[in-house]
Amino acid sequence: MAMQRTLSIIKPDATRRNLTGEINARFEKAGLRIVAQRRIQLSRAQAEAFYAVHKERPFYNDLCNFMTSGPVVVQALEGEDAIAQNRKVMGATNPAEAEAGTIRKDFAESIEANSVHGSDAPETAAQEIAFFFAGVDIVG
Ligand code: ATP
Ligand code: MG
Repeated sequence: MAMQRTLSIIKPDATRRNLTGEINARFEKAGLRIVAQRRIQLSRAQAEAFYAVHKERPFYNDLCNFMTSGPVVVQALEGEDAIAQNRKVMGATNPAEAEAGTIRKDFAESIEANSVHGSDAPETAAQEIAFFFAGVDIVG
């Protein structure tokens, strides 16, 4: 399996509860390397642009409110099959459906406040990494 990079976000519900280190430990134990990382406050415009794919969904406005409700940690993760591997470590979108031992099962508060974001395909991973990081910011 090829080496890949994926974009991860530790969401405001998790930064509020000081879970950045615990979540990063899950990534590292799963063989994912944090090759770029920055803690930021998303602007409304940034949240809307990042989640533009969900613009027509009923939860879009609430999601943008939530994602701007506190700091987030944006990160690029690198590893073998990193996109799928990260989504496995994250667990299902809805924590009620997430497998035992996943980040969302253990930490998510709700289907919206579900602690982490992870890219879902190579094309979106490349776009989402470029949304937050310049090439020189990523050190593998
Ligand atoms: P993410 O893109 O954040 O990694 P995902 O790919 O598992 O999550 P998506 O379907 O892309 O899920 O939804 C993006 C985000 O929108 C979810 O992570 C969650 O925060 C929110 N969301 C998704 N479905 C709902 C819903 N039914 N009600 C409220 N919020 C939702
Ligand atoms: Mg998604």
